[in-house]
Amino acid sequence: MKFTVIPKETVLLNPLQEMRRRTVASEIRLDPLTGRSSRICHFMKLQWQKPDLAALADRTASHCPFCPERVMAITPCFPPEILPQGRLVNGDQVLFPNLAPYEALSAVAVMGAAHHIPMTALEPGRIAAAFALCLSFFRILEVIDHPESVYHLVNWNYMPPSGSSIVHPHLQVFAGNTAPQLLREEIAAARAYRRDHGTVYWDDLVAAERADGSRYLGRIGRTEWLCAFAPMGVAGDVVAVVDGVRRTLDLTGEDLADLALGLTHAMAVYDEMGIFSFNMNFFSGTKEDGDFRLHVVFSPRTYFNQVLGTPDVGALQHLYREGICMAFPEEIAQRLRPRFQG
Ligand SMILES: [Zn+2]
Repeated sequence: MKFTVIPKETVLLNPLQEMRRRTVASEIRLDPLTGRSSRICHFMKLQWQKPDLAALADRTASHCPFCPERVMAITPCFPPEILPQGRLVNGDQVLFPNLAPYEALSAVAVMGAAHHIPMTALEPGRIAAAFALCLSFFRILEVIDHPESVYHLVNWNYMPPSGSSIVHPHLQVFAGNTAPQLLREEIAAARAYRRDHGTVYWDDLVAAERADGSRYLGRIGRTEWLCAFAPMGVAGDVVAVVDGVRRTLDLTGEDLADLALGLTHAMAVYDEMGIFSFNMNFFSGTKEDGDFRLHVVFSPRTYFNQVLGTPDVGALQHLYREGICMAFPEEIAQRLRPRFQG
């Protein structure tokens, strides 16, 4: 397991100290699996101002398509060959096709009746139930042997900085036979890793992170939690690897509860930094993929400037696909760890 760091130094004349020379350190890190690079730089205090979220919720509720008075009337249904009942319903959670699909099978899972649930009020039980609803959908696709039922992916864009245009908590649910870019790269790299080392990359990663300890957060059931060495998010990424599980459909109800609990631990700590938004993706292999371990990546999102609505992703990330993280992942792990071990 190679954790490559390329140190950098920038010399500048500091106007705040009579133009004295100042050296600013930063690093470029390479992800041990894919070689994807990420810059640890800027070193700002990870603290942001939250906008008035209650006002934002109020402004958007009257025309929200996912609120209970509208969701059953204006969301689409699956055709009978996929789902005879049209939508999947469990309590106040509803899964239906996305009107604007991203995949052959592209669904939305509304996580409940409430239009706005603040990040720290998202209960593990609600999150786990929504994940379970997604898995019910994937199981139906398996039963009907749908040709696109290969990669079963759950994405979560929570609140506008993450790319969500709808405040109402919902998941994006995809099944398709073409894995998205980074997942495809991970699958190929994991295959090569197995060929070279004879072991599964994520098993070795968890063992290495546990031994080193600086980014390791803890274990809940058979989910192992750590901070990414080369994060994509400006405030780091939290990763959960599920021991022995290759793909989404191999997750048990207990795994879903453990993933949900760990996610709420991360949310609680990031909330203290003023963060109120995140992306979360399932990275899943297929049933043939012995080289893969299902992992979930949680990446907090923010605006750099609330007033201007400046996103935290600029040209470096968007067009070079280069990660930028504004604090050392090991320092972020220090803040998160007590929550996972408490
Ligand atoms: Zn709503």
